[in-house]
Amino acid sequence: MIAAVDIGGTKIAVGMVDDGGNVLSKMESPTEGSHVYSNGLERIAGMLRETAHTAGTKISGIGIGSTGPVNPFAGTFGDVDFIPQWRGKNLVKDLARIFDTRVVLENDADAGALAEAGWGAGRNKSRLVYVTVGTGIGGGIILDGQLYRGVDGAHPEVGHQVIDPSGPLCSCGFRGCWEALAAGPAMVAWFKSNNATDSRAGEDLTAKRICQLAQQGDQLALRAVEREAYYVGLGLANLVNLFTPDAIVLGGSVMKSAVLFLDGVRKVIRQGCRFVPFEKTELALASLGDDVNLIGAARAWHHRFRQVGERA
Ligand SMILES: [Zn+2]
Repeated sequence: MIAAVDIGGTKIAVGMVDDGGNVLSKMESPTEGSHVYSNGLERIAGMLRETAHTAGTKISGIGIGSTGPVNPFAGTFGDVDFIPQWRGKNLVKDLARIFDTRVVLENDADAGALAEAGWGAGRNKSRLVYVTVGTGIGGGIILDGQLYRGVDGAHPEVGHQVIDPSGPLCSCGFRGCWEALAAGPAMVAWFKSNNATDSRAGEDLTAKRICQLAQQGDQLALRAVEREAYYVGLGLANLVNLFTPDAIVLGGSVMKSAVLFLDGVRKVIRQGCRFVPFEKTELALASLGDDVNLIGAARAWHHRFRQVGERA
């Protein structure tokens, strides 16, 4: 039984994940209460004990997934936006000491990629790109069953490929990154900016709501969906041209409405990927649901310590 820790901007989740990728018990705590590292460590350790107890199990390893930047081999945190005080802290060493077990740290998008590759929609695909479209766009790349890592184990940022240099400013410094054009907030911003006279302008809009409106036939929402499909498609087309993977697995909150986007996405890929066998790249929907990062943290542990191509 692997204990999993998922550290995100709003919550820290902890769970027990069995060798088939099933979450047997789970707890969550707001990230806010863990800004001071020692408090976070204490809270995570407490939740680990409690979830292990609930599942009636002993922890045989711990996997951690976190929003980056993190150093997966040193086990340290970099400048993670929402927990700046964790910079340089080593959660891997601390949890290994407390629980006397082996601990792994991975970027959460890489963890998600490993989970979908091992236990989800990307099973048996040796070359796989995992893309999550939600409040941001992230992803992970699996080549020949192994997680692709950059220099010093760095995590590549597929969401910051530039799609339109005249596009909106992105947090990274560029304009028109994929994330700035196609993540959920970009869809909402476009809808609002084209909706100034409409009564819905003041509504607490989300990408999900826009998708619902589109399904009801709302004209502006349909245009927002068309635009979203176009921009998601451009980024995916780049990935198809660069990697010609067996599959691209699409996850994240916006992709829960993937049925609205897939035709438009395929059209863009057909238009611009003719020098590669684009029709052989399967577009698959992520299958592990909202616990994907938690499951991924456990999968990261298996991936690190049971490297030999073993597929549970
Ligand atoms: Zn960017």
